[in-house]
Amino acid sequence: MNIILIGPPGAGKGTQAATLVKDRNMIQLSTGDMLRAARTSGTELGKMVAGVMDRGELVTDEIVIGLIEEQLTSSTESTGFIFDGFPRTLAQADALSNLLSKVDQKLDTVIQMTVDDEALVRRITGRFTCGVCGQGYHEDFKAPIIKGKCDNCGEVGAFKKRADDNEDALKTRLMAYYKDTSPLIGYYYAKQQLQQINGLNSIDEVGRDISEAISSI
Ligand code: ADP
Ligand code: ADP
Ligand code: ZN
Repeated sequence: MNIILIGPPGAGKGTQAATLVKDRNMIQLSTGDMLRAARTSGTELGKMVAGVMDRGELVTDEIVIGLIEEQLTSSTESTGFIFDGFPRTLAQADALSNLLSKVDQKLDTVIQMTVDDEALVRRITGRFTCGVCGQGYHEDFKAPIIKGKCDNCGEVGAFKKRADDNEDALKTRLMAYYKDTSPLIGYYYAKQQLQQINGLNSIDEVGRDISEAISSI
């Protein structure tokens, strides 16, 4: 089972992908996470994409397609891939389709998570993660049980915010979403692969709706 989670920044893709990994043993392929890892380890690629990411613009198709190709051809057995934040352009969607057929796989469904802009701003400005284990949080909607301490790994004082989670970069990211990524919704709809989920519901409700969407195919 290979699925795409598509939605604007802050829609909840990463949050739901983490649940699918835990519950269904799927592999999460997040190009955003891969690019941030390249930056943290200080690779040439990381240095090259830093400015573009901080401004909230898209990195080139060539770079992200290369990252996905590496993962698809090297990943071990799993119950499938979750594409999170990829594809983001029509060129990336075409490349994904080619890459999947190369490894004898197919795309099973595309789940669109809809959330209005006002809620996105709240989600993005309140988002933080644990710098040790990567667990995601939100100041209001998913606060850690003990302030400052990660529920998942127990680390204290390791929370961090993303450099691009500010209002200026978010404006650019939303523009990029509507201009370059939203055409994919029509594309997958026409291919009868699109399912829509109301991303404004609670984290648990959205999780249940995604489970249902997956079971229906
Ligand atoms: P979000 O949480 O906003 O959906 P991501 O973590 O997926 O953001 O991506 C962060 C940044 O990484 C993007 O703003 C963009 O600069 C870059 N990026 C990630 N995935 C892609 C992609 N598929 N194509 C182009 N740029 C990407
Ligand atoms: P994306 O990967 O699509 O950019 P995230 O999964 O990182 O989005 O979610 C953005 C922020 O919103 C995080 O702080 C997360 O804890 C919170 N969040 C995710 N889903 C929901 C939800 N259904 N309701 C409220 N907050 C949510
Ligand atoms: Zn942690």
